[in-house]
Amino acid sequence: MKIIRVRAIPMSDPVPPERRHRTDLGTKMKSDATLILVETDNGLTGMGAALGTPPVIAAIVEHELAPELIGEDPMFSERIFEKMYNGSRAKPALDRGVPQAETSRRSGMVMEAISGVDIAIWDVKAKALGIPVYQALGAVRDKVRGYASGGWAPGNEAEAELGGYAAKGFTAAKMRVVGRDGFSIENCVRRVEAARRGVGPNVELMVDAHASLETPVAIRLAKALEPYNIAWFEEPVSPDNHAGMAEVRASTRIPIASGEREFSRYGFRSMIEHKSIDIAQPDVARAGGLTEIRRIAALTAAHDLRLAPHAWGAGVLFAASIHVAMSAANCHILEVSQGYMPMMNELFNEPYDIRDGYVHAPDRPGLGFTLRKDALERFKYVEGPEFAF
Ligand SMILES: [Mg+2]
Repeated sequence: MKIIRVRAIPMSDPVPPERRHRTDLGTKMKSDATLILVETDNGLTGMGAALGTPPVIAAIVEHELAPELIGEDPMFSERIFEKMYNGSRAKPALDRGVPQAETSRRSGMVMEAISGVDIAIWDVKAKALGIPVYQALGAVRDKVRGYASGGWAPGNEAEAELGGYAAKGFTAAKMRVVGRDGFSIENCVRRVEAARRGVGPNVELMVDAHASLETPVAIRLAKALEPYNIAWFEEPVSPDNHAGMAEVRASTRIPIASGEREFSRYGFRSMIEHKSIDIAQPDVARAGGLTEIRRIAALTAAHDLRLAPHAWGAGVLFAASIHVAMSAANCHILEVSQGYMPMMNELFNEPYDIRDGYVHAPDRPGLGFTLRKDALERFKYVEGPEFAF
């Protein structure tokens, strides 16, 4: 089996004005993704998706990565990853057994592009084997607990919003630290108190600060939230501030989760070395695809850290995340977005199997999902930022 063509298709999912929600990230105008298709000489097509700015990702895939992939066999998925990561130094890197990544490929949008291609490689590889991706990776389970990820409502409205997630059957739910009413510690405590009332004592409740706080404020907030039995405090501070994150962690008994903005195993190694996290949250469409996330899972497992994959984006990203969850032993829970996301929920012919708070693995070969006929037309790329202030 040989790769004969690699394509990258920019996509967007505009949010209609009445559905736009405001957070500390701004007002959500649209969601972007780049769909990546890898075609082989035996007629199979693998599908991946990358985060990042779609026209930039498409240019990286088409001009930098695709020429290196033509003629490669998808069964050599580790080799393909190393080729993309090390670039012109792939041969000496593999001969010596020492990574020699090209400077721009270590992180940022190039790593996001590599991630998207890697997912497509695994999809086509598993299709050729006739088994689901998680079984090709090595299956550990066929269902995983999901958590409802949302929680933007202001003040006491958080009670009904989070209670609604529990009513859908979720046994864990996450809310944003900054609601539509803006941020103050008092606001946040009021919302968390309301959310706890809404979900009751037995549902796990998590809070996410989107890396929007400075260390002393995050420490004060963590203290103030301790009475509400919080399962994790996500991204309390900047993802670049692993030392600050560690200070927050040392100050509270609430577990700290982070990693959705990290790239490669080295980003996670730094967080581990700083003792900044209890739960690692790699994103398969950013951190390095299924190949690198498997290494991250092993690395975190060696420190008894749990994995809760970040899974907020287009359907291909969510599908790939399901396979991560089914194949990483230290994964205990998977994010299930409660936002307005047609490009996640209406992209495929096949529905996701989410029942009684669990996400079930698809039993079809590859990622197990096929694009709806109108998908490329419906989610055509539109220029402009994803968030506006
Ligand atoms: Mg988050």
